[in-house]
Amino acid sequence: MARTTLDPDWPIRAAALRAVELMVARHGPTLPWSIIEQGFELDGRRIYLASKACGIFRPKEMEGGALSIRTSMPRGRRSARYEDGAPLKDGAFAYKLQDRDPDNHFNRLLQHAEQLSAPLIYFLAVAPGVYQPLWPIFVKHIDRARMECSLSADDELLAMRERDVPMVADARAIDIRREYVTVQAKRRLHQSRFRLEVLRAYETRCAVCRLPRAELLEAAHIVPDREETGEPVVPNGLALCRLHHGVFDTDLMGIRPDGVIELSQSLLDTRDGPTLEHAVKSFHGQRLHLPRHLVDQPERRRLEERYARFLEFRKTG
Ligand SMILES: [Zn+2]
Repeated sequence: MARTTLDPDWPIRAAALRAVELMVARHGPTLPWSIIEQGFELDGRRIYLASKACGIFRPKEMEGGALSIRTSMPRGRRSARYEDGAPLKDGAFAYKLQDRDPDNHFNRLLQHAEQLSAPLIYFLAVAPGVYQPLWPIFVKHIDRARMECSLSADDELLAMRERDVPMVADARAIDIRREYVTVQAKRRLHQSRFRLEVLRAYETRCAVCRLPRAELLEAAHIVPDREETGEPVVPNGLALCRLHHGVFDTDLMGIRPDGVIELSQSLLDTRDGPTLEHAVKSFHGQRLHLPRHLVDQPERRRLEERYARFLEFRKTG
């Protein structure tokens, strides 16, 4: 028997997951609270997805487990922290229970969700008033002594529910899959936090050409993230438009540790139309536009490390 039939709220829950999917399709991977708080319409009723008052939420139309969990980030805090959503060793998110009583009203909503294996929506704060929704996410284990629960992402389980396929016997395969999906979700989350913080530091402009459109801006790593020093932190980031990100990533453009842009000789020797001449070559020898705050500016040792790679590339390429 499929376990979905146990969830008395399944129609509303499924509609809520679809509603979040639509919001993300329309507004991008991070959502402002003003979008989330609108909720969605089902059979002529407005149903809310989350509440400003409490992190654990179940709309009044539902009777079983929680529908969503929300982390928060106080205004005035400049960068994201990971108190909630902190990684656990088995590839899950940790979430603190409410207050001190593991059996209070809100924490019981999590207990119900765990018993039902109900998919939840996790609204993770990536900036004050801005959330990245992750779904479906499941309450995996409630640790009453430590007053926290672990949450893990899993799209495979949800897909099975939607097809109404009975739960399969190979629990181990599901565990591995669940861990993988959670790791992927975390990776996406870190990337979007990194992008938001870098764009904020650079006042939503390309550090090379000053292009001011967020849709066309990306957060480039100075030291690539596959390397040990390549952390996703603002001093290792540059806000670049897609064109200049591409030129930088292929080492056709280098940044001198003093912030001056250099282009590879092969690029300077190439002659072509206005895109190459104006949008690329004209920046050779120009200074990068850096953030106003010193703490947000690229760290010199990272620039040195990356510039050494550019010089190396210039010798061979
Ligand atoms: Zn640019």
